[in-house]
Amino acid sequence: MSPATREDVLNALAGIPDPATGKTLVSAGLIQGLILKDGHVSFAIEVPAERGAAAEPLRKQAEAAVNALPGVLSVTAVLTAHQPTSRHAAHARDPAPNPNGIPGVGAIIAVASGKGGVGKSTVATNLALALSKLGLKTGLLDADIYGPSLPRLFDIYQKPRSEDGKKLQPIEKFGIKTMSIGFLIKEDEPMVWRGPMVTSALSQLLFDVTWAPLDVLVVDMPPGTGDAQLTMAQRVPLKGAVIVSTPQDLALIDARKGLFMFQKTRVPILGIVENMSVFVCPNCGTKSHIFSHGGARKTAETLNVPFLGEIPLVSAIRETSDAGTPIVAQSPQSAEAQAFMEIAENIARSLTAPIRQPPRIVME
Ligand code: ADP
Repeated sequence: MSPATREDVLNALAGIPDPATGKTLVSAGLIQGLILKDGHVSFAIEVPAERGAAAEPLRKQAEAAVNALPGVLSVTAVLTAHQPTSRHAAHARDPAPNPNGIPGVGAIIAVASGKGGVGKSTVATNLALALSKLGLKTGLLDADIYGPSLPRLFDIYQKPRSEDGKKLQPIEKFGIKTMSIGFLIKEDEPMVWRGPMVTSALSQLLFDVTWAPLDVLVVDMPPGTGDAQLTMAQRVPLKGAVIVSTPQDLALIDARKGLFMFQKTRVPILGIVENMSVFVCPNCGTKSHIFSHGGARKTAETLNVPFLGEIPLVSAIRETSDAGTPIVAQSPQSAEAQAFMEIAENIARSLTAPIRQPPRIVME
């Protein structure tokens, strides 16, 4: 079947009246950022912020109408606020957090960093593979919607399928289930995300994907401490967060910010990982401490959070990532892969502790 066209989608949406104005979604100019790619459709519905959660049925209706079209494999419709009137209004559309997490998913852990470029995605990916090697049914969600890296790290360029037209099926590779916004949107097609859109997109990647059954879902968070992290903390009962940092002081200061953000939302910190810890010369095997090695361990001690381990700076880690077969998948017996295995064992131990409920964040 040939994929649906832009015109098909707009025609379907033109059949839906906006109850607030009586105009259709299209004639009222509410449809923004329509993207079609091989039968996968995404768009935003721009509503005034004060309509908040009241617009959710409209979003569902729009999604269903497009889903019903022949040649449509998946639909992602998100609500976006047109000039929120206040912070409170911007958050009003968030439904209550789901206290039961994702049905059939044992634990959700976030891998985060205070800033980009510290190797967060590299660590999240290899940790997910290492947890799977420990015998846990593992999923990996690339929640970095600003710069998805999973297509490159796992060399996945196929589109996820949907059997029922409602939920996307994760793509399985190296024994784990994966999902990334990058599977749906082209790499060179930058999306302009606004706060509420981020919330909605992340929510769909969590709840509208057939993750179950899983023992653990590893979430590769966007860098920083903004909306996306708050969403995660609010919406899902995170088992905990792993903070990735390089040994440089600056990154450590950023790591502290990340740490404090999770503590503020009462997400337990599973610990800190020091990445690019020691440089191992590929020719002679000599170890050199290019950055002031050990900073993350000291920070962890000072802040009274666990230190989970260190990953050396070795070209094999970058090369295997770039080749789409991360080191734990490609050379599980190598010293680098073993460093990830050790950290995964530390994390797996903490997964047996009782799960906590997500906090409600009340905006003043
Ligand atoms: P982030 O997710 O924090 O932005 P990435 O995981 O994308 O960072 O890593 C940034 C770059 O550093 C990538 O090219 C990656 O291959 C490389 N890299 C990450 N960790 C290591 C490591 N331990 N040794 C060598 N290269 C690394």
